[in-house]
Amino acid sequence: MSARGDLLHRFLFERLPVRGHLVRLDASWRAAIEHHEYPRAVSDALGEAMAASVLMAGALKFEGRLSLQFEGRGALRLMLAQCTHRHALRGVARHDDLPPGASGIALFGSGQLAVTIEQQEGGERYQGVVPLEQERIADCLERYFERSEQLPTRFMLAATPGRAAGLMLQRVAIGEGGSEAEQAEADDAWKRIGLLAATVTPQELLETPRKELLARLFGEDDIRLFEGTPVFFQCSCSRERVAGILQSLGDQELQSLLKERGDVEVRCEFCNRAWRFDAVDVAGLFSPGASPQAPRGLH
Ligand SMILES: [Zn+2]
Repeated sequence: MSARGDLLHRFLFERLPVRGHLVRLDASWRAAIEHHEYPRAVSDALGEAMAASVLMAGALKFEGRLSLQFEGRGALRLMLAQCTHRHALRGVARHDDLPPGASGIALFGSGQLAVTIEQQEGGERYQGVVPLEQERIADCLERYFERSEQLPTRFMLAATPGRAAGLMLQRVAIGEGGSEAEQAEADDAWKRIGLLAATVTPQELLETPRKELLARLFGEDDIRLFEGTPVFFQCSCSRERVAGILQSLGDQELQSLLKERGDVEVRCEFCNRAWRFDAVDVAGLFSPGASPQAPRGLH
């Protein structure tokens, strides 16, 4: 593991009801894009979404997988970033030819962001959806927290083909016991911290050492920075899941593919791994003893 990146850090303001997370992705981010030839505007947007998915996985309590799915009718049709509670990360984007000069949310045209948390072991599935109305990926995520979690949250995100990074701040409730004066003070502090955070440049987010960055932004405040936890690229594709997708295509469709190509190959969009099924494998999918696999779309 590189000493430079692929780490998620949590931090606290000692005297303010504000907490934060900071992430930098190096190898994990490069692994997600190495088999794709994304235009720069698409990879920048995907990098920001992937950094955000790690920040959210760090801040929200769940055991399973968190997905950020941006869908639109523009040149960028789909962007999916997924991070598990163990910080296993993957992501993919689907796009057509891009209009010149467009970036961020404008690439999607109209669309929506769905935040989904799938709990392990048959737990509950949670989904919140917000329309894509703002310009930056960060704005949409802030809107999501405002609407769905009622938790004031700020995101600062940046990505290049070599690294993705993000900073997230969340206001912590001071509870029923807080007096009006304390509440007003907390409001002021939250505003002040938000303004300071907004001064961060993409270059600083990507390059400045963490402690130095926090000191530069919030030098007047005492901050406790916790030890980082590793983030890594890992795909959850499997032969069983691919078999499920093939079963949903039907025997006839697969037989014609077999006739054309000799075998059926499904390449994972996330990790580029090829799953091959020959005529015997395909017959097995539809034999009376074959267990039905639920189709899962983006597996
Ligand atoms: Zn895969």
